[in-house]
Amino acid sequence: MVSVLTTQPLDRPLDYKAPPGGVADGAFVLVPLGPRLVMGVVWGRGRGGFDLSKARGINAVLPVPPMREEMRDFLEKAGAYTLTPMPAMLRLATRAPGLTDPPSMRKVYRMGEGEPDRMTDARSRVLAVLEEFGGLAFTLKELSEAAGVTSSVIKGLVKQGAVSEENTPRDLPYPTLDPSLPGKALTEAQEAAADDLRAGLRAGSYGTTLLRGITGSGKTEVYLEAVAAALAQGRQALVLLPEIALSAEFLTRVEQRFGAKPAEWHSGVTMTERRRTWKMVAEGGAQLVVGARSALFLPFRDLGLIVVDEEHDSSYKQEDGVLYNARDMAVLRASIAGAQVVLASATPSLESWVNAQAGKYRRVDLKSRFGAAVLPEMKAIDMRAEEVPSGQWISPALRQAVNQRVEAGEQSLLFLNRRGYAPVTLCRACGHQIECPQCDARMVEHRFLKRLMCHQCGENMPVPETCPKCEAEGTLAAVGPGVERLTEEATALFPEARIATLSSDLFSSARALKQAVATIAGGGADIIVGTQLVAKGHNFPALTLVGVIDSDLGLHGSDMRAAEKTFQLMRQVAGRAGRADKPGQALMQTYQPDHPVIRAILSGDEEEFWNAEAESRHQAGMPPFGRMAGIILSAEQADVAMAAGMELARHDGPIRAAGAVVYGPAPAPIARVRGWHRVRMLVKAPKGVALQRAVSDWVAGVRLPKNLRLAIDIDPQSFF
Ligand code: ADP
Ligand code: ZN
Repeated sequence: MVSVLTTQPLDRPLDYKAPPGGVADGAFVLVPLGPRLVMGVVWGRGRGGFDLSKARGINAVLPVPPMREEMRDFLEKAGAYTLTPMPAMLRLATRAPGLTDPPSMRKVYRMGEGEPDRMTDARSRVLAVLEEFGGLAFTLKELSEAAGVTSSVIKGLVKQGAVSEENTPRDLPYPTLDPSLPGKALTEAQEAAADDLRAGLRAGSYGTTLLRGITGSGKTEVYLEAVAAALAQGRQALVLLPEIALSAEFLTRVEQRFGAKPAEWHSGVTMTERRRTWKMVAEGGAQLVVGARSALFLPFRDLGLIVVDEEHDSSYKQEDGVLYNARDMAVLRASIAGAQVVLASATPSLESWVNAQAGKYRRVDLKSRFGAAVLPEMKAIDMRAEEVPSGQWISPALRQAVNQRVEAGEQSLLFLNRRGYAPVTLCRACGHQIECPQCDARMVEHRFLKRLMCHQCGENMPVPETCPKCEAEGTLAAVGPGVERLTEEATALFPEARIATLSSDLFSSARALKQAVATIAGGGADIIVGTQLVAKGHNFPALTLVGVIDSDLGLHGSDMRAAEKTFQLMRQVAGRAGRADKPGQALMQTYQPDHPVIRAILSGDEEEFWNAEAESRHQAGMPPFGRMAGIILSAEQADVAMAAGMELARHDGPIRAAGAVVYGPAPAPIARVRGWHRVRMLVKAPKGVALQRAVSDWVAGVRLPKNLRLAIDIDPQSFF
């Protein structure tokens, strides 16, 4: 008898009869469940406790490498930490299609024996590519792209035997990365940092290092050396990036360093490629994976290193389904795998900063920018003293600075962290604001798309001609700025300049976005108008000015991380300027130049900012000095959610017994999303408390109505 965990929402693994000859722990199997066959993983010995003669048998053992013990351990610990049921954890670890299919075949192309009857330009390009790559096989698509020819040219060569066509298994290993190729010559400081990271890898055991370095200091160059060390040991490496869609530049850098591209894992990757990556990671045919947070759940055979680049980025926190923070899970996975973690950031999260201060993480600092590049000069533009006409947002001071750059042939970035044209659409006659019918959120006008959109649920509608409330005609007005409106203003102010807008919703695909970023980096725009999309890791060598339109935007609101996030975002954005050999400048428009956060950003004294921020969280018993869990209750009727919250609050015995406190219920800041009413509760506990146990005992002890959804968010990042 063995126990089999499936992805079906059952509360425990089920017992099945092992096939004759037995089956290994971790094996992927097909088992009958009711009338269906489902995929599962053998999860140890059977638990028994029922009539054995009724047990059903395992239907088939699948031809994929069994899940390693380390991975099963990781899933269990991560599930226990995030209070996620195991079937949902297994789903995270099997997110590749066709795992159960037999290996399929495809055609590949290599150099053949024969000679073409006549040589054409196109034909010789194909043969040159095949020659250059020695005996390597190409798919039709790869070969036609590499040679810049149509597939019929290749087919023609096949007919004549000059190119051979063979069937091979579809899921091929990735090209070998060569860690012994020479990297860039590192500066002394970079070399010292790389040595520290290499030393960690040599230890061959778990350890985490916070690699802190201002933007442009060469963090990427340095952690690629750690990757090289892992590969040289024959171990695998995983690099997590926040905005994976933008990794074209990164892939190129990997290729330059190691002679080939790594495997990719993110939402833009095709299903076939996902299956290949999953299998090759398990079999050892992928040495390096570059991916989004879910790559953490890939079945690495021998993981030696995880790099979490821009570790402070809020996109590492999954806010849907399984609520986990990839940064923390990376540390967990590495501690089980005996791997090293490198957390890289110019502006680390307070959690990581505190862990480094406490000696839990090593800390390696890169203090200066590479080469001639210097950190931009940071200055506030005091908006109280500027005259800006209503409906406009670019101050005369900023305008002048942009003009200078345009004349000098340099790039400027106008940064506004708001998508769309205008955040509010208001009727001038009756004062009505157009809201989402499903959510407690205002509809945002997207003028390029000619629609109003809800940023919570995606609901959208054409911009109405008449006010939906008072039916007055032509009275609807856009209020406040979004990037699209800022683009309009910039176009009027700088008629000579070429202006590009970078906002995630303006691109239909990751590829289109990559293309736009590359064009801009190559000098294809004088002014970039962008949201936080641009704050993340692109190199725009000609960019020398960053103008922050509304530095105060993030400072309001109830989020305990508001100060930290504003600080990080402003420093990141400012770091975009002056990366090559020209000095940069960052100008921040603000109505509160004396706000402590704005002052900390301007002074550039980061240690002082972290110290003050840590102190105030310490005082308040907030993470990382205390522990928190969020409870989100949602129901189609507001009173159902609220009543359930009251019921939980009345029965908070397990929470109190653990020394923790429950706050709420209270309507969530966005009280309705997609028609569901949301109520939040917060559990706060001192540091040493077994929070997960207390929360699960508490929730299990209260009978909740069926038409209610409950989500538990351990270490919540935000409170929306
Ligand atoms: P960060 O990741 O800290 O922002 P990068 O590693 O991206 O910094 O480096 C910034 C720029 O400087 C990149 O274009 C990179 O190629 C270049 N660079 C950094 N270090 C070196 C070096 N030792 N030799 C050559 N170029 C370097
Ligand atoms: Zn909505």
